[in-house]
Amino acid sequence: MLFDIENETLPKDELGALQLKKLSSQLERVYHNVPFYKQKFDEAGIKPEDIHTLDDISRLPFTEKQDLRDNYPYGLFAVPEEHIVRLHASSGTTGKATVVGYTQRDVNGWARLMARSLMAAGARRSDIVHNAYGYGLFTGGLGMHYGTEQLGATIVPISGGGTRRQVMIMKDFGCTVLCSTPSYGLQLYEALQTANISREDLRLRIGIFGAEPWSPSMRRDLENKLGVKAINIYGLSEIMGPGVAIECQTAQDGLHIWEDHFLIEIINPETGEVLPEGEQGELVITTLQKEAQPLIRYRTRDITSINAIPCRCGRTHRRITRIAGRSDDMMIIRGVNVFPSQIENILLECQGTTPHYQLILTREGALDQLEIRIEVGSELFSDKVKQLQQLEMNVKKNIKEFLGVTAKVKLVEPFSIERGEGKTKRICDLRTT
Ligand code: ADP
Ligand code: ZN
Repeated sequence: MLFDIENETLPKDELGALQLKKLSSQLERVYHNVPFYKQKFDEAGIKPEDIHTLDDISRLPFTEKQDLRDNYPYGLFAVPEEHIVRLHASSGTTGKATVVGYTQRDVNGWARLMARSLMAAGARRSDIVHNAYGYGLFTGGLGMHYGTEQLGATIVPISGGGTRRQVMIMKDFGCTVLCSTPSYGLQLYEALQTANISREDLRLRIGIFGAEPWSPSMRRDLENKLGVKAINIYGLSEIMGPGVAIECQTAQDGLHIWEDHFLIEIINPETGEVLPEGEQGELVITTLQKEAQPLIRYRTRDITSINAIPCRCGRTHRRITRIAGRSDDMMIIRGVNVFPSQIENILLECQGTTPHYQLILTREGALDQLEIRIEVGSELFSDKVKQLQQLEMNVKKNIKEFLGVTAKVKLVEPFSIERGEGKTKRICDLRTT
């Protein structure tokens, strides 16, 4: 079932024509209403009317997260303050938070895209949605909230925290869809075990997980533990919030990005050069419909690639592959590029379950050192020294074999790694330069 069948199945040429039309008017608007863009375009010697095709967009300058920070809080707004009905801020995972504004039309459009996304994930009007994304300045909670109402399903606005109470509500209310970060999904599972609630006691059938990178093995783990089909959702506050892209339940293979609202490119993060379809690089998004704060060629820092193969579900919007990580989360360890999600995959293969883990980077002399701290179950910890040593060796060996990196592995007691309710911070980089 499709929420907006006409727009979701637009033939490629019609979709392209629509994008170009929207792009032209968006460029006109930012050029005349946002001094930052007028200056940037003038410096690059380009006017909105010079853009005749979608490919011409590569002639325009990028917008970066730093530009949002430099123009904090309202410098990139394209409408007068009285047209703004809502403000949000990014969660500030990698520095100072950035502010985003919405007009009423932006808020309505977001709710519709979220409803589209929920339906693509398999949710229906009859579903009861347990929304454990944080409510507040972070876009996750409210984005999911209004999308669920737009779809006509029932929202349980539980937000983050109070994990023990969450699992009771999930059971008593008969929630059928769980929305949370993948790491919080695992925490909920732990709380279910403590409360002696089995997956058969729940009515969950879909899990919609996003806001942080997660691996294919974590998907299998979440599916087994919670008895759900685990769907990957992507978004970022600068562009809108959750619902920029989502996997469809049919293929569960790559995330459809709503191309009638967003124009996408993949670039080489070092050179800025646009890469051909299929190659991995940094995702760059131009908003086509945002009123309050349109962004042109925004560098998301998220690493992915475009999959243009038509999808079985019938949606014509192209898919992006699972986000491998953020370019600023990529660790360079003695010259080798490593994303936390790659390590996570290996840990799961070794242990059979996704552990809570943390990556500590230090420098000894001129050399980078990676320490992986992994929580292991209390049964193992109490008396099975041999098994612990075996596990430690296994992880070390596999990390070396698959990633080419030598790591120190430290097994730690259950619950000794701090839990967050929102995004988990996996990397602790103590290197000074
Ligand atoms: P912050 O940059 O402060 O975390 P946001 O709260 O807006 O700001 O989060 C957006 C970011 O979260 C994205 O740019 C991306 O790095 C990450 N993210 C969101 N969804 C996913 C996902 N499904 N997989 C991987 N990363 C994701
Ligand atoms: Zn699909």
